[in-house]
Amino acid sequence: MKILNDDELIKAIVIHERRRRAFEQSGLSETMAFDLAEQMFERDHDPMDDRRICFECKNFNSQNKKCMDPKQKFALPYILQRCGGFNLKGVKK
Ligand code: SF4
Repeated sequence: MKILNDDELIKAIVIHERRRRAFEQSGLSETMAFDLAEQMFERDHDPMDDRRICFECKNFNSQNKKCMDPKQKFALPYILQRCGGFNLKGVKK
């Protein structure tokens, strides 16, 4: 894992906190939300790890926790995975 400088570490902590809160609001327990935010932190700083969770995807409906891509059978909201239908949120095409 990459060694972070002070600025990168502060940014990573803010992101970790934001994710943890979002996962708790979506129904995960405090422990599960923290663990998932930890996994994502490690993923973010491992250049070889390209896994994503559905929460990061434009095709994910966070209200009903379902995938809106008809080619995908179901969403795995809380599991880091590689999905052929993944479409990063916040990126314009
Ligand atoms: S396309 Fe894949 S990554 Fe995106 S919401 Fe559906 S199952 Fe999840």
